[in-house]
Amino acid sequence: MTSATSRRGPDDDADVIVVGAGPAGSTAATYLARAGLDVLLLEKSVFPREKVCGDGITPRGVKQLIDLGIDTREEAGWLHNKGLRVVGGGVSLDLDWPSLSDFPPYGVVRPRNDFDDLLARNAQLAGARLFQQTSVTGAITDDRTGRVVGVEAKTGPERKPVGYRAPLVLACDGVSARLALSVGIQKRDDRPMGVAVRRYYTSPRHKDEYLESHLELWDRSNPDEPRLLPGYGWLFGMGDGTVNAGLGILSTSSAYGKTDYRQLMRAWLDGTPEEWGFREDNATGKIGGAALPMGFNRTPHYRDGLLLVGDAGGMVNPFNGEGIAYAMQSARLAAECAVHAMARPTAFSREQALRRYPTAVQQELGGYFRLGNIFSKLIGNPTVMRMATKHGLPRQTLMRFVLKLLANLYDEKGGDAMDRVISATTRVTPSA
Ligand SMILES: Cc1cc2nc3c(=O)[nH]c(=O)nc-3n(C[C@H](O)[C@H](O)[C@H](O)COP(=O)(O)OP(=O)(O)OC[C@H]3O[C@@H](n4cnc5c(N)ncnc54)[C@H](O)[C@@H]3O)c2cc1C
Repeated sequence: MTSATSRRGPDDDADVIVVGAGPAGSTAATYLARAGLDVLLLEKSVFPREKVCGDGITPRGVKQLIDLGIDTREEAGWLHNKGLRVVGGGVSLDLDWPSLSDFPPYGVVRPRNDFDDLLARNAQLAGARLFQQTSVTGAITDDRTGRVVGVEAKTGPERKPVGYRAPLVLACDGVSARLALSVGIQKRDDRPMGVAVRRYYTSPRHKDEYLESHLELWDRSNPDEPRLLPGYGWLFGMGDGTVNAGLGILSTSSAYGKTDYRQLMRAWLDGTPEEWGFREDNATGKIGGAALPMGFNRTPHYRDGLLLVGDAGGMVNPFNGEGIAYAMQSARLAAECAVHAMARPTAFSREQALRRYPTAVQQELGGYFRLGNIFSKLIGNPTVMRMATKHGLPRQTLMRFVLKLLANLYDEKGGDAMDRVISATTRVTPSA
């Protein structure tokens, strides 16, 4: 990226304000600062802090880390994995990550406690000014134009009210999307949502070369009458003696909103073998849960000086619930557009550069997310899901294709026959 020119006015506190220092915010702040802009990164919590997550990162996410210049070798503290184990329909299948030109052949696992801290420090190293314990309450808008010109916040332990101004604001505040809501950008009900819960357990299964996903969750509390539970589970070995165990449910499932997710998780894990250790006594913390905003469920992604990035723009993959890679990918695009906007001499041409952001995320992710939205409707139907696990799982070639599709891991250009099918399908599926 080239160095940018500052466009700040006399009342501005920075060139760009980035709200939220999760993967989206810290990535955007790093790219913006590296391009020479003065960046204020506002974060409500204090690092290191916990974030409810599965802590699993596919090769798509690793690519984003490499792009950012992060050392992802095992020596640097990353636990590598070589693929996904899919369990269901009485079958367990180890599927290696595909060998591709666009993505590395490994995924990683790292607790968010550590991961988010590392990315925030990286943004600081690039020159971004990180203000922690600063909770943004809403946008400051220009009375005349309605344009976002800054943010109101409460800062420090005494929650002192403050205001910060900048010509451009990036909303990277996650699923709560407080900033977007403050200017009336609502959640879209025609797009899927998910809910996921997770907990850490001490377990002998903590070292695993594969991320494990369970397509069928069984409640075996009554051995005479095992019950199929709605949703998908994961077991991600953390390599430190613990496993991150969790499950997610889609809004397209009839159980969504009517289920006690914590109870559901206990019922599933109680049905797993005793020796794996997923019992109350081995839990190292509480069950945490949060919503997963999917398939662009908050738009527009740009309006009046405000860009929505990552979860704030509903960018979780509807196929598999992965959000870190997309938060970082959209952050890179947002930073690129912001840098170009700042380098332009007139308000009109700056606006043109900013309007490229929603177009760019649509071009890179729109077709795929649209396909995912259709998929989420299909699998919300238990009959379809049962058919898919029963007939799909035993077929290895089919499953290798499914892995590429679900994890969005295929070569855009060239690649093998499977890659060409996925690439063509996302192109012909109208953008979300
Ligand atoms: C149970 C669960 C499991 C998941 N597992 C995975 C997984 O294994 N792999 C994966 O890729 N994705 C997973 N996800 C999704 C992933 O966690 C998100 O998609 C990802 O964190 C999005 O990054 P983000 O930067 O957009 O938002 P966040 O990570 O939510 O970051 C937002 C940041 O903004 C801060 N903030 C919020 N409001 C304000 C405010 N008003 N003022 C200032 N700061 C604010 C927050 O403190 C936070 O630091 C999971 C989600 C859940 C709920």
